[in-house]
Amino acid sequence: MERILVFCAHPDDEIIGVGGTLAKYAQEKKKVTVVIFSSGENFPFWLKKEHTIKEREKETKKAGQILGVHETIFLGLRDLSLKDDLNKKEVFSKVVAIIKKIKPHQIFTHYPGDVFFNHDAVGKFILKAIKKANYTKAIYMFKVWNPFYFGKRQNPKLIIDISSMFVKKIKALDVYESQKLVIYMLYPFIFFKAVFEGIKYKTKYVETFLRYG
Ligand SMILES: [Zn+2]
Repeated sequence: MERILVFCAHPDDEIIGVGGTLAKYAQEKKKVTVVIFSSGENFPFWLKKEHTIKEREKETKKAGQILGVHETIFLGLRDLSLKDDLNKKEVFSKVVAIIKKIKPHQIFTHYPGDVFFNHDAVGKFILKAIKKANYTKAIYMFKVWNPFYFGKRQNPKLIIDISSMFVKKIKALDVYESQKLVIYMLYPFIFFKAVFEGIKYKTKYVETFLRYG
């Protein structure tokens, strides 16, 4: 059974970035594991952090079920101090151990260079962790916050037609009651990107990734 491992900074990054692809892979009987670094507990700021963390974890599991995710692992790092937490040895060891244990055939993570610095930090961290874990297979990177721009001369290396999974992707996003506001702000981007790139690649909806190495 092919194993897929996804690393992302926050709940919902995996859905926005790679949700359609994960649903497709799950349907193809691939075993998908998602690792989430932080609950993004600082928003909404008017709610108690503990409450937000619990809600997010519940929502993430529910969204994962919709997509067919096998397992979701929460690392529980602090969103506002994510960079400090990523410098901790035990966090690094934990992530390396996860890669070694799962022995994935493909890894998906943030594009280092994502405008949102916690996404960038996780992307860079994973590139270090795969080296330590002696992982040499494919690593694909997605952008969440500026989905239109991959930079110059960086054509996507993996293009997945998610037309049949697009409804599932939106349904999974809908689960995130606790961050509706942010997600609604992103909706036009998600639709526009999927449609725009779909036209480019002559299909309805796609998700695109850069390949590392
Ligand atoms: Zn995020």
